[in-house]
Formats: sequence, C-alpha cells, structure tokens
Amino acid sequence: MTPFYIAGRPATSDDAVEIRHPFDGRVVGSTSNATPAQVEEAVAAAAAARASAAALPASARAAALDHVSARLKERAEEVARLITGENGKPLKWSRGEVGRAVSTFRWAAEEARRFSGTVQRLDTDPAATGRIALVKRVPKGPVLGIAPFNFPLNLVAHKVAPAIAVGAPIVLKPAPATPLSALLLGEILAGTDLPEGMWSILPVPNDRAPGLVADPRLPVVSFTGSGPVGWQIRDAVPRKHVTLELGGNAAVLVCEDWDDLDWAATRIATFSNYQAGQSCIAVQRVYVHERHFDALTDRLVAAVEAQVTGSPWEDATDVGPLISHDAAQRVESWVTEAVSAGAKLLTGGTRDGAAYAPTVLTGVPAGAKVVAEEVFGPVLVLERVASDEAGLAAVNDSRYGLQAGVFTRRLDRAFEAHRVLDVGGIIVGDVPSYRADQMPYGGAKASGVGREGLASAMADYTEERVMVLTGL
Ligand code: NAD
Repeated sequence: MTPFYIAGRPATSDDAVEIRHPFDGRVVGSTSNATPAQVEEAVAAAAAARASAAALPASARAAALDHVSARLKERAEEVARLITGENGKPLKWSRGEVGRAVSTFRWAAEEARRFSGTVQRLDTDPAATGRIALVKRVPKGPVLGIAPFNFPLNLVAHKVAPAIAVGAPIVLKPAPATPLSALLLGEILAGTDLPEGMWSILPVPNDRAPGLVADPRLPVVSFTGSGPVGWQIRDAVPRKHVTLELGGNAAVLVCEDWDDLDWAATRIATFSNYQAGQSCIAVQRVYVHERHFDALTDRLVAAVEAQVTGSPWEDATDVGPLISHDAAQRVESWVTEAVSAGAKLLTGGTRDGAAYAPTVLTGVPAGAKVVAEEVFGPVLVLERVASDEAGLAAVNDSRYGLQAGVFTRRLDRAFEAHRVLDVGGIIVGDVPSYRADQMPYGGAKASGVGREGLASAMADYTEERVMVLTGL
C-alpha cells in the first residue's frame, strides 16, 4: 500500500482504497484515506510550520525545488507509467505531463531565487521627506491545494511548487481516482530538507473535504476542478483567499485570412481528443469562416478519423479511455441529446465501455449541452461563421472563458481578439489548448477566479507588507 504524507512523514490508515486502471478495470495500486485525526495532525503541523517556512532562505527553497525537478526527471518513465495506470491517458501524454512537471519545479526554483520586494520613495509629498518604503511579499498563511484527476502530477505541482517557492506550508488533497502520482511526488519531497510540517499530501474522501476547506488554519484555498464544486467552495468560505481554476468549453476561430488548413485541421483534431478530451482547454467549439468551411470540414473529419484509439500503453495510441464508464456514458448521452435536437453527426458517436470515439458534430442547436456546457470528452462542435467578427462573437457566446485559439496571421485581428475575447488567454495561430507552465493561466466568467503559472501563483499565495523608514 502506497503511504500518504503527514507533515513530510509517510503514514497509512485502515481505510484502504484500490486504484483501478480506467482501460480495463484492473487494480494498479492502493493507498488509504487519511482519518479525521490524521487530517487534524497535518493541518496543525502546517499551522505550526508557518513561521519556520516563511523564514527559509531563498537558497533552501530553490534547492528543494531543484531537487524535486531533478528526481522527477530521473524517474520520468516510472512516473509516466504510474500516471497512465491510474488516469488511463496514453503513455505519450503522460510522458509529456512528467516533462512539464520537471520544468514546473525548475521554473519555481528560478522564481524563488528572483522573488523579492521593492523600494518606493515616498518623498513625492513634502511631508514625507526623509521617508522610504520597503515592500516585501509575505505568505498569507498555509495553503490548501485541491487537485483534479486529469493532470494528476502537473496540477499538483502547480499547487505545491509555488507554495515552497514563497515559504508557505501546504496541505494537498489529490483527486480520489488518481492519488498515486501525487504520493510519488511526496516520496520525492520527503528527500528534501524542507522543515517538518511544511507539506502534507493526503487522500481525503470528497464528503470530508468541506471540513478541510472550512478550517480557519488554512486561509488560502487553491482549487482546480469542476465548476459546481469550485463555486460551492467559494460560497462556503467568503473570507478566505480562494483561487478557482475551473472548466470551460474552449473555442477556436479559423479566420478568413488563414492559409494553412492542414495545420489547423491537425491541431484541432489532436487537441479536441488528447486525453480523450479531458482537459479544461481541449478544443470543444470550432468556428470557421465560410470561405474555408467546406475544405476544413473534410480535412478535419479525416484528421479526427486518423486519431488512433485503443490501449493507452501502445505508443501509437492517441486516444485512450475516459476516466470512468460513467464519464463516457455521460458524454454519450449529451451527443444523443444533440443529435435528437437536430445536430448532424459527421463522425464518431459510439462508445465501448469507458472509451468514446472521437466525434464531430455540426448544426448543433444553441443550448444543447455539447456546446453550452463543458463536454470533457472527445467531442467537437463545428460551425460556419459569415465573418471573423461573427466568429469572435460566437467564441464569446459562452458562460465560460478559459482560453481561445485564433488562426490568423493578421496582426490587427490578433489584437482585436486580445481586446474583445473575454477569456484568460488567447493563442494566436494555434488551438486554445496550449499552456506554458510559467505563463499566467486561468479563466474569466464561470471558468474561475485568479491565475496560476508560477509567478502568478506566488503572488496569489502572498501579500504585500510595507515598512516605512523614517529620518533618512
Ligand atoms: P472535481 O471538481 O470533481 O474534483 C476536483 C477535486 O475536488 C478533487 O480532488 C475532489 O476530490 C475535490 N472535491 C470534490 N468535492 C469536494 C468538496 N465538496 N469540497 C472540496 N473538494 C472537493 O473535478 P475533476 O473531475 O477531478 O476534474 C475535472 C474538472 O477540472 C473539469 O471541470 C476541468 O475543466 C477542471 N480543470 C480545470 C483546470 C484549470 O486549470 N482551469 C485544469 C484541469 C482541470
């Protein structure tokens, strides 16, 4: 049984949980849920470590982060296999996730070395002659990190690495379906010299998670997951600092000037289906200028049909199973609903257990769940637009706003998209599914509040503290 970590030390409980492979249901590992007493121990340790964590020199914080990055890199193949085992994503995407986590920790180490304050002159007012202000950022307090199943390592890294970088204790709760990669990260963290109590990684069942959220000793909550849970958390603790990284129904616009339809088709087909569509920025809605609609439709359907489905362990596989049978059934019911309401199925639309075939729909009535909600499956909705302006309006016509992709080479169109799209990020010349781990990342509207990305999360976990020096 894989242990969890309380205040940096391995522990287990009698509440054992088996982790099953989504592709064939076999058991790939086991761990245990922390008991209420063990959760209390972790939270008390985080609260007690507040001062020692904040006092850690930048050199020690950076060294710990570099250590984690280097060990993850050494064990990359083992970690990738663990991710595929518990999450079911094809091995090539798991390898990509490990590579990203290696750089997330390395980047955090660099940011830890840079993280500093500012000096402000105050003598712009004659009454303040002889005074200056030193402004430094101090941790707001211990962080509660809550992570989803779809990037079980790198999204845990995005909670843990910035906390270490600023010297904030963290209690991390992985997703129930995918705790093993987070616990392997714990094994690596246990090899650092970070002070006792600075970090805990422990599985907690969903019905006990609200107790952790409400605990006043954890004043910062960094949540990545679904909208209903995220907004419920924010409503439950309005006085806490809550960051929500939630879902979306990311859109892409292929503009009139775009001249490389093969590239657009390949990218859209790949990133509506990668991880079986289980990414918050998977391509879900595709708007195409009417000049290109027919030509792109043919290429896109061909590119989607070329996606190789099957066992996530095969190197050739592009699309594996969804996280569970239930998730695939939900996607199936949403596609059926759209088709019954008049949508045309261009390819896909079939389910085999937890696997759902890469699917393209067009003519989907507004309000159908596959276009209005987050499908979180390998399904894209393709629609014609009469102009680029109409396309930008269609991208915005969503209650979500995480990222958008705009295929254009026109600088003025790119600036217009940046100005008018109500999203956290615009990717020009590519799909919305692109994320570099150091850039600010997060959503507008129902997609969340706040930003991750190392420097942004570090700002989020800290607040400014001013000291005015007098008599200079
Ligand atoms: P989920 O909301 O079901 O679970 C996320 C986490 O919340 C899990 O650890 C879960 O155990 C925990 N949780 C469940 N109920 C809770 C409660 N009442 N209180 C506190 N915690 C609770 O999400 P999921 O299915 O694991 O992940 C998929 C979702 O995550 C999708 O909506 C996806 O778009 C979103 N996501 C967003 C981003 C982003 O950066 N914006 C990244 C990845 C995934």
